[in-house]
Amino acid sequence: MAAKKFVYFFGPQGSEGNASMKNTLGGKGANLAEMCNMQIPVPAGFTIATDMCTVYYKNDKNYPPELAEQVEENLKKIEAVMCKKFGDPENPLLLSVRSGARASMPGMMDTILNLGLNENTLNGLIKKESDTRFAWDSLRRFMQMYGNVVMGIKGEHFEQAISSLKEKYGIKNDLEMTVENLKELVESYKVIVKEQTGKEFPTDPKEQLWGAIDAVFGSWMNERAIVYRKMNGFSDDWGTAVNVQAMVFGNMGDDCATGVAFTRNPATGEHIFFGEYLINAQGEDVVAGIRTPQQITLTGSRKWAEDHNISEEERKSKYPSLEEYMPEVYENLSNIYKKLELHYHDMQDIEFTIENRKLWMLQTRNGKRTAAAAVKIAVDMVHEELITKDDALLRVTPDQIDQLLHPQFVKESKKSAKLITKGLPASPGAGTGQIVFNAEDAAAWKANGLETILVRLETSPEDITGMVAANGILTGRGGMTSHAAVVARGMGKCCVSGCGGLNIDVEGKTIKAGDLVLKEGDWISIDGSTGEVLLGKVATETPKFNEEFEELMTWADNRRTLKIRTNADTPRDAAQARKFGAQGIGLCRTEHMFFEGDRIKAVREMILADDLEGRKAALAKLIGHQRNDFLAIFEEMRGLPVTVRLLDPPLHEFLPSEPQQIKEMAEIMNCSEEIINDKIKALHEINPMLGLRGCRLGITRPEITEMQTRAIIEAACELTQKGVKVFPEIMVPLVGNVNEFKYQEKIIRETAAKVFEEKGINVEFLVGTMIEVPRGALTADEIAEHAEFFSFGTNDLTQMCLGYSRDDANKFIYQYIDKGILEKNPFRSIDQTGVGQLVEIAAKRGKKARPNIKLGVCGEHGGDPASIDFFHRVGLQYVSCSPYRVPIARLAAAQAAINNDVVRQIKQTAEDAYSKAESTAKDVYSKANESLKNLKETVENSELKKTVEEGAKKLFDDLKKKIKKD
Ligand code: PEP
Ligand code: MG
Repeated sequence: MAAKKFVYFFGPQGSEGNASMKNTLGGKGANLAEMCNMQIPVPAGFTIATDMCTVYYKNDKNYPPELAEQVEENLKKIEAVMCKKFGDPENPLLLSVRSGARASMPGMMDTILNLGLNENTLNGLIKKESDTRFAWDSLRRFMQMYGNVVMGIKGEHFEQAISSLKEKYGIKNDLEMTVENLKELVESYKVIVKEQTGKEFPTDPKEQLWGAIDAVFGSWMNERAIVYRKMNGFSDDWGTAVNVQAMVFGNMGDDCATGVAFTRNPATGEHIFFGEYLINAQGEDVVAGIRTPQQITLTGSRKWAEDHNISEEERKSKYPSLEEYMPEVYENLSNIYKKLELHYHDMQDIEFTIENRKLWMLQTRNGKRTAAAAVKIAVDMVHEELITKDDALLRVTPDQIDQLLHPQFVKESKKSAKLITKGLPASPGAGTGQIVFNAEDAAAWKANGLETILVRLETSPEDITGMVAANGILTGRGGMTSHAAVVARGMGKCCVSGCGGLNIDVEGKTIKAGDLVLKEGDWISIDGSTGEVLLGKVATETPKFNEEFEELMTWADNRRTLKIRTNADTPRDAAQARKFGAQGIGLCRTEHMFFEGDRIKAVREMILADDLEGRKAALAKLIGHQRNDFLAIFEEMRGLPVTVRLLDPPLHEFLPSEPQQIKEMAEIMNCSEEIINDKIKALHEINPMLGLRGCRLGITRPEITEMQTRAIIEAACELTQKGVKVFPEIMVPLVGNVNEFKYQEKIIRETAAKVFEEKGINVEFLVGTMIEVPRGALTADEIAEHAEFFSFGTNDLTQMCLGYSRDDANKFIYQYIDKGILEKNPFRSIDQTGVGQLVEIAAKRGKKARPNIKLGVCGEHGGDPASIDFFHRVGLQYVSCSPYRVPIARLAAAQAAINNDVVRQIKQTAEDAYSKAESTAKDVYSKANESLKNLKETVENSELKKTVEEGAKKLFDDLKKKIKKD
């Protein structure tokens, strides 16, 4: 049996892989292969498949024997293509080793450059005298990187060695280091390695290569990678691929450069080529933010100079754009980026290196972008006919919509704030908080409920948890493509980077800006859209939506089948939700109205009253308030359905607890405090969530249901008489038995009929129930005989199905998730296998009994995208969520419609099958070719050839003779 294929080659003559093989080759590897297939110049290399990572961990971090053979074989192929030899002192091939999972994990995994260098092979890099410095610089960079990533030595040891050397020789800039300085640095690095690991730095290139491969696979399970995967819901089973690729050099002189670019602006989505490059530098220099990167385009360069108060002359001489500095290379790069965008139908994030004016592409991937950019790019691409509307809707994530709802500074408040300085607008949005100087503090302060801004010189992957915890990130160094900028944009967190105007002392925990000194705990505010850093706390507000957003939302509305309602108990919330596009109220929790102002006293009176009469008297004080509330809400919703739920929570929640309140109630009710206290005790329940609540209240105290129904219907009649359309739906909570519903329904209908008679008008309304008790779900057919609609109360349904108290489950749920018992919090995203079954059963049985039954959901899950997909699949008609989640739900519902579209699924399956068949065919073809070649060789070298030739000659001669004779 042929050995399993773990290694895939890519090179100028084409590749063994392609873009569709992301799961096998990782995103980076698949795209490198694809670029080669597109005849784009890419240094040759090979990818060790992600399956190897899985095998590696299964086999106790050991490789199967065929891996070494396949690596050797492919190394030879790279040598042949690049005309260099790995480990050769004359003409050495150097390699880069990079990780690459199927989805991009920026900064999570480790990269090693210049692998294969030692003091021997270094000589092969020196073709002319001026190369000497470059060669030694490459060796010290390699030792530093390898020492850090593979050998686990802290970067600061190497940084310290550089600083000491610079200080010793009075060097300011790295570029000023001479060959002798670099040689000295290499010697000190050797000492560091020995001191820190007890081992010598490996000089054998093969040993270096396997060390690097180990390190990449090892880094899949490092803390940062695990945190990032958890944050993004990526599976640990995916594994990473390892990309081993021939090095090209951007640091061999002034006709070399390296850069990163986006085919559109990743912050705003504007359709302009956007990127930075550095002359005579290696990739890490651009990302590390140590030198000031230059702009690629002339327009970008001029804008940058203007923002930084740099004259045109100075810009041209010191910071020319690539367009000016190497026009032919720029032209070539421009053509490639356009080709890539057209090919991938998405904005690309590219990395390139220019070696002696030759352009090499090192990476392309779909670029990370801000939420605003995601919307603009998706909408623009539909207009440019690059993608369909469905594609556009799938390109923007519900989370990005959430980010769009994130705060901006309130103009007035910002006006009065003192501007400290300006940095780069690295990730939009506004943030305010107290200064902290490291990630651990950001996380700890957040845990104590404090708001922070994380201030760093520059960030690294170790800072991720702090970046998550902080309200914003401010860095002293780094460009728009620095780690801080890229990661913050991905998180939707505001970030100002490259703030050269600040003197940040991380150790001493101070920031100096001119005379101003800020310390840990001081308040600052940053604007990631403008780069401004402001003193103090500045008020924030939610942004208004732009045209593209509205357009995308219209497409979402046309595509979705689920209606989106909101959970709102006040006219203000209702108005906000309508602005966000809500199509009705799915849950108006009337108990929230009971707490308003003075009403709570009447509510307490009602609960504490001795008899029906007392209760009725108290309720009479409430009915006016309730009616006014409904008038305002119905009016706001103008004819859209409004589901009003009757009183639900246990009564003790309304009872007085403070001595002052008890005293007050005693006065109102004209009795002693002792009596009030006794009544409170009597109402105490051991398990209030399973006690006297929901319809049980309305059944034991029918006058409450009566009062609420009267308030609803009176408000509806009043507005109808005024010509305002209303459509109330009265909802009975916590029904588990059809008789409970019937009992309540009777009161509701009789009360409504009375009001209609009094008012001389009829208003259409529905009576339905929540399905939130498991028995209610299982007997949905019986209930649907009477109920006109069901609204799934998935909060209680989850609580009762799983037996997890919704108020206490946080004590263990996060441990359950950490320990792999639960995948996610079932109160956030519905447990589709368990609780989901109850929803499915109830929907099915409900529809069977009443085919036109209205089905919706109003638990928290109504705003969760994964749950929305589930509700779409089980055939609910609407979801209801909090006002600020309405736009998210609109998009998620459209995505559910698209993702579950049968035609689309069939097309996708066909496309996948085609691309699989294509790659199998390629494989078979290359194997057949190989066999044919082997056969030919065998025939060439064997006696058989002679025999065949003699036989053929004889046949031919015989034939000639025969023809002559005839
Ligand atoms: C529910 O249980 O899902 C629900 C919406 O009701 P509440 O959260 O008010 O109990
Ligand atoms: Mg409930």
